Amino acid sequence: MTKLLIATTNQHKLREYAAIFAPLALELCTLADVGIDEDVEESGTTFAENAQLKAEFYAKRSGLLSMADDSGLEVIALDGEPGIHSRRYAGPDATDAERNQLLLQKMEQIPFHARLARFVCVIALTHPDGTTELVEGILPGVIETAPRGTHGFGYDPLFYVLDEDKTLAELPPERKNAISHRARAAAAAYEVLQHWLTNDRL
Ligand code: IMP
Repeated sequence: MTKLLIATTNQHKLREYAAIFAPLALELCTLADVGIDEDVEESGTTFAENAQLKAEFYAKRSGLLSMADDSGLEVIALDGEPGIHSRRYAGPDATDAERNQLLLQKMEQIPFHARLARFVCVIALTHPDGTTELVEGILPGVIETAPRGTHGFGYDPLFYVLDEDKTLAELPPERKNAISHRARAAAAAYEVLQHWLTNDRL
């Protein structure tokens, strides 16, 4: 069976992707499984560039069909910030709480109707022949004026989802995993993989 290398060391993401891709005739493996412990510098200027850099790097290193992602939060009133800088928004050693505090501070003067934001996830799939397909998942929402909820991670307590009438941190993890930007990108990636499988490209 063709192997699919999921190029992330985040155990939470690994489990989520493994569940979504389980029905495909692919043998999933991790960076640890194939003995790769190198990091790739995320030097791109977009989520897509960073995801592609990573997927192509690990495909070359392993010779396997490889998948990598990049994700983050874009706030319209802040011209798309924190964007690709989501993880290091408040400095390299800051906590999630400190990042959320900084975001709240920057948005202090912004009224509710102008607090639109979106979570973005781009997944890059690199075929063993070296070609890459990119897919994207988006979850729209509104930045709250104070954190609410204890589930999830990162900016979840500040991210209000209108259709759910809850912040992402108030949603049970199964619900977040069903509607998230990552789940939406993964569903699109599933289609690409299925297409490659049915067209004998794998
Ligand atoms: P990465 O794709 O794992 O590098 O994620 C980048 C950063 O974006 C994370 O460290 C979080 O700050 C933020 N982020 C991405 N996805 C989520 C999410 O589902 N909830 C909250 N924050 C997220």
